[in-house]
Amino acid sequence: MKALQRITVLGATGSIGQSTLDVIAQHPERYEVFALSGHARLDELFALCQRHRPKCVVVATAADATSFSQRLREAGLATEVLHGEQGLSDVASASEVDAVMAAIVGAAGLKPTLAAVRAGKKVLLANKEALVMSGGLFMQAVRDSKAVLLPIDSEHNAIFQCLPGNYAQGLSQVGVRRILLTASGGPFRETPLANLETVTPEQACAHPNWSMGRKISVDSATMANKGLELIEACWLFDARPSQVEVVIHPQSVIHSLVDYVDGSVLAQLGNPDMRTPIANALSWPERIASGVAPLDLFAIARLDFHAPDEHRFPCLRLARQAAEAGGSAPAMLNAANEVAVAAFLDRRIRYTEIARIIDAVLSQEPGGSLENLDAVFEADTVARRTAVQWLTRQGR
Ligand code: NDP
Ligand code: MG
Repeated sequence: MKALQRITVLGATGSIGQSTLDVIAQHPERYEVFALSGHARLDELFALCQRHRPKCVVVATAADATSFSQRLREAGLATEVLHGEQGLSDVASASEVDAVMAAIVGAAGLKPTLAAVRAGKKVLLANKEALVMSGGLFMQAVRDSKAVLLPIDSEHNAIFQCLPGNYAQGLSQVGVRRILLTASGGPFRETPLANLETVTPEQACAHPNWSMGRKISVDSATMANKGLELIEACWLFDARPSQVEVVIHPQSVIHSLVDYVDGSVLAQLGNPDMRTPIANALSWPERIASGVAPLDLFAIARLDFHAPDEHRFPCLRLARQAAEAGGSAPAMLNAANEVAVAAFLDRRIRYTEIARIIDAVLSQEPGGSLENLDAVFEADTVARRTAVQWLTRQGR
């Protein structure tokens, strides 16, 4: 019998966190929860502690930690409560931990995810923003620590499954011509362009195929998500931006494809449910059940493909430009997008202004190289400040 693997789930209260815990709970003989983290949704975090009985839990602030400890004690739970960035990094790198699910949303996930990488853990990467911000440093840390980095993003997990085991030798060495990154096109794929000015956060978050957190749902509507994923793919698979082509595939059944020089194209298919890539990465190189229903090809009946329209999806064009510029441009794109999406969800800006803010930040800030983590956070801060100045100038 195999040893039980102890898992830390960063961002346990979120959509990926909950799907991860669902898969873990299906395999109590293989996995045990070591630590969970939450931020604002403390009632959900408390319920998860009751259900999964982690050794540690991480909350946002010292004050939250005090009240949360009290609540756990009253419920008879001996869970240790940590807080803040240090607490997150501690549970990501603890010696008892075998694998870390990095599922905090946005730049806040970077330091704890890097802590897991530096501790040489098996890192299940959902937090694409961490890699987009600090790709070169992040991948160097993976090589130095010999951490095992496994992609959770459905597209990257699909690409990973379609590549041979020795792909790290270089894509051309293993006969890869292109990576085809699929995208659903989101809820506004066919909305008349003139109507995009007035779409609401509720409409943007109503994704046709996937159920996800609010930030990534807006990113899917604008296709900023696909832009971040293009950058993510370049780092994960050592690809040039020109080797990654985005394909709109509205059914979200093919999760991505790899095109080889001999004309073979390998694809990974499945129902759009994140428990598949999560189970794949958790158990890799083995396979375990995920709870996802088998794919019914007869019910799907057809698969469609289109080229993305850059007028409809300017964020995708901006992300490709940032990928090609390299250096601090992707970190700035990510930060500007985070500020813009938060303002849109707060109803302070229109949907169409998300791309305008990113464009303004990228064209105003010269960017530079990223020698260390301080430079990454400096680029992030500068871009956030410039984005906020844009909002202030517009009176938002
Ligand atoms: P959610 O918004 O559902 O969850 C985000 C998680 O991060 C929650 O646990 C939240 O805590 C926590 N969190 C938010 N802000 C902070 C902060 N400042 N410090 C610490 N923790 C914080 O997002 P998703 O689960 O949808 O996405 C998580 C990550 O996975 C993102 O990077 C996303 O791009 C990526 N991803 C998601 C997919 C999906 O299908 N959902 C698919 C592919 C990638 P709380 O809720 O308690 O506030
Ligand atoms: Mg994805």
